[in-house]
Amino acid sequence: MNSNLFLPGHDFLAHTLVTDDCSFEVVQQDGMQILFHATGVLEFSPSHSAGHALVLSAGVHGNETAPIEIINNLVTAILAGHIQLQCSLLIILGHPQAMRQEQRYIETNLNRLFVEPLRRNTYKPSIELSRANLLCRLVDDFLMRHGQAEKLHLDLHTAIRRSRKERFAIFPYVENRAYLQQDIQLLLAMGIEATLLMHKAGSTFSSYSGLQHGARSYTLELGRVRPFGQNDLTAYQNVYDALAAWLCEPDSIVTPDRQMEFYSVRSEVIRTGEHFELMVAADQENFSEYLSGELVWRDHEQEYRVQGRPELIVFPNPNVEFGHRAALLVQKND
Ligand SMILES: [Zn+2]
Repeated sequence: MNSNLFLPGHDFLAHTLVTDDCSFEVVQQDGMQILFHATGVLEFSPSHSAGHALVLSAGVHGNETAPIEIINNLVTAILAGHIQLQCSLLIILGHPQAMRQEQRYIETNLNRLFVEPLRRNTYKPSIELSRANLLCRLVDDFLMRHGQAEKLHLDLHTAIRRSRKERFAIFPYVENRAYLQQDIQLLLAMGIEATLLMHKAGSTFSSYSGLQHGARSYTLELGRVRPFGQNDLTAYQNVYDALAAWLCEPDSIVTPDRQMEFYSVRSEVIRTGEHFELMVAADQENFSEYLSGELVWRDHEQEYRVQGRPELIVFPNPNVEFGHRAALLVQKND
């Protein structure tokens, strides 16, 4: 372990939870350069790289602790020499201030702010906007320096709601974009059962790296929100193992004996106003099915019932602001 990197007795996560505004550079004996760009942001440049650049992020929502702990364990293993890195790697713990309070966010949802700089400049200042500006700048810098590499960004989350698909990926919309089979193999190895193909450009972290840099990028929903220290990390062992294997040998993922299910967005449900009613139970699971004829939402003027093939609801939230998205309705691809 490179003991100079963090305070005595601290690992990357502990360091991130107690320290602000640090940046330094270390070169290890094996020639690996380690750049500490900012709180929670660490870059590794091994002396040998197989031409891949990976952005691995978690904690964009501060209370989604399991992926944060997985990334922390990967950093510890890299520093201890247990993982022999074969790619350039930018590690990001997205929102240290929210992580310290184990809150999803402080002022506003960070994962809605990753848009191009001109649009970002028009947003109301907040703790999250400052962090989004910093993270975009660091991702821009990292991915532009690796312009010729195979660029991949995995943004790890856990969900508030239960889900009929325990783990699923969201593939952001970028014009003319197609997912790569090798990425799907990695996601399957991480225990991901379903991939949701988005229908229009978004403002999430993974959208940003896809739209601005042409990175292959995915938001990964890996399970349920729990406090730090209360995650059963054995349940996430396949996530850790798949990522660790990829870091050592980006083209080495063993194909699990399963197929990915793909879903496409059929429509967005918008909260139309005060009479809007979304037909979901408080504990409704993501990917719950509505059959033909079933009512999904209504207000005083209109109602929406499924016609034809079943539609599944994802990210239902009837309490968003008026005019905002209250749910996605998706259908399984043939
Ligand atoms: Zn999240």
